[in-house]
Amino acid sequence: MPPHPASDVGTVHSLAEVRARIAAAATAAGRAPESVALVAVSKQQPWDAIAPVLAAGQRVFGENRVQEAMARWRERRAGLELHLIGPLQTNKSREAVEFFDVIETVDRPRLAERLERDIQALGRAPRLYVQVNTGEEPQKAGVIPSEADAFVELCRARHGLVIEGLMCIPPAEEPAAPHFALLAKIARRNGLARLSMGMSGDFEIAIAHGATSVRVGSAVFGERPQAIPTAD
Ligand SMILES: *Cc1c(COP(=O)(O)O)cnc(C)c1O
Repeated sequence: MPPHPASDVGTVHSLAEVRARIAAAATAAGRAPESVALVAVSKQQPWDAIAPVLAAGQRVFGENRVQEAMARWRERRAGLELHLIGPLQTNKSREAVEFFDVIETVDRPRLAERLERDIQALGRAPRLYVQVNTGEEPQKAGVIPSEADAFVELCRARHGLVIEGLMCIPPAEEPAAPHFALLAKIARRNGLARLSMGMSGDFEIAIAHGATSVRVGSAVFGERPQAIPTAD
């Protein structure tokens, strides 16, 4: 491999450091380091920040907007595992089913219905997670905890969707641990083995509570540039 330009070193170092911290947290929880996957959240990052992470071998990336993800990854799609971690509008369901390997934000009956239709039409089924709004925040996507069991059952029984796990984003201003514990409890009673939880600020806590994948952005790539609002 050619030597990295000096500006890349920090990013690669952060990837290695995040991987080491994931492994240490898994070991501390009595789990195998490979039992926790790193989803590197590349949303809003300039390509200069992403390229060295890709070059260092990271293959699993998270994006929160369908259009942005396609613009960034379409030409380099081979060999990658792409996760949609942002809210999915029903009118973008078809594109999302076509493009993503994992959709982590299934959260309402109308979307489940559309996903069923698009999966059948395209003959392609991304892995699916149900997003739970553990903090019951009005501005946040996700099914509320008291409706999670019924929604998982609706996805399975009515729409024939294979739900692989649950995902949550705890309220920013609260300790995350009780939210992670709640998500794990809902997953257990619904027979779901996968938990997508934990971000840059709290992924070690999430791993202690059973996270099987963590979605880490700024700790891998550096702070995101100021978000530009889009209509996506
Ligand atoms: C942006 C984002 C992340 C990553 O956040 P960081 O704090 O940068 O690690 C994780 N999950 C979701 C759903 C996000 O939107």
